[in-house]
Amino acid sequence: MYVTLKEILKNTRRDKFAVGAFNIHCLEMVPSMIEAAKAKNSPIILQVSPTTCKYIGASLLSAVVKELAKETDINVTLHLDHAKDFNTIKEAVDNGFSSVMIDASALPLEENIKKTKEVVKYAAQHGVSVEAELGTIGGTEEGVALNNGKIKYTRPQDAVKFIEATGIDALAIAIGTSHGQYKSKAKLRFDILKDIYNVTNIPLVLHGGTGVSEEDLKKCISAGISKVNIGTELNIAWVTAAKESFGKAKVNDSCRDLLIPANYAVQKVIEHKIDVLGSSNRK
Ligand SMILES: [Zn+2]
Repeated sequence: MYVTLKEILKNTRRDKFAVGAFNIHCLEMVPSMIEAAKAKNSPIILQVSPTTCKYIGASLLSAVVKELAKETDINVTLHLDHAKDFNTIKEAVDNGFSSVMIDASALPLEENIKKTKEVVKYAAQHGVSVEAELGTIGGTEEGVALNNGKIKYTRPQDAVKFIEATGIDALAIAIGTSHGQYKSKAKLRFDILKDIYNVTNIPLVLHGGTGVSEEDLKKCISAGISKVNIGTELNIAWVTAAKESFGKAKVNDSCRDLLIPANYAVQKVIEHKIDVLGSSNRK
C-alpha cells in the first residue's frame, strides 16, 4: 500500500520502533528495496535526493514506486529528501510523492519557520506529509559540505516552537550524526535526544544513519527516534557488488545479469537494517 509519512510513522513513538528511510540511488535498485521490506514484513520509506529525483524523473519514479506498492500490503512511502526550494518540492508533490522534506535549516529560525509553513500549506492541499529540519546535521551531501561539515545541535525549546508554528509531520534533529560518514562512527548526544523527545509529540528523524553503530541506533530508537535515514551504506553495497561483477565480465555478458548481485546486496543490507530498527511485522 502506498501511504504518507504521517501514516507510516504513526505507531512508532508509542511502540518504540523506527522505520528505515532508504535512499534510492538508481531505478534498478528499487524493486529489491521493496523485496527486502516484503521479506521482513516491514513498512519501508523510499527516499531520493533532489539530484536523484532529477536524474530518474519525478513522474517515472513515482509511477514505479506506486505500482510496486500496489502489489503488496506492506506500507510504502515515497519521500523527497533535503529539498531546499519550493519548486523542487512542488514538482514532487504534483507528481504523486507521498512525502517531502523541506530543509531550510541553514536559515535563522524565523525564516526556517516561514519557508517550512509555505511547504506545509501546499503539501496539505495534496494530502502529502512534510518533514523539516532544525539544527544542522554535519557532513556532506552529494559531495557538498553542509554548514562546513559542522554540527549545530537542535535546541529542545526551538523544536517546540518550530513544530507548533509550522504544523509539520516529522522533525529531523541534529544530535551528532553526519551525512556520508562510513569510515568512523558518530558520537551522539542522547541527552539532547531525550530532552527533545520529552517536549515534542511528532516523529523524530535521525539523518546520517550509516555513520551510527548498531548499538547506538537501538539506543536512539528506545530514546524516541521514529525514522532513520540510510543512504551511503546502500551505495557502498551496490557499488562493491557491481565492481566485482563488472570487473569479471566479458563485454557480451548481459548487463542485467551483472546488476543482479548489486541489487541483491542492497536488499540484504536493508533486511539487516530492518532487524536493527525493529520494524519487522509492524504496521
Ligand atoms: Zn539528511
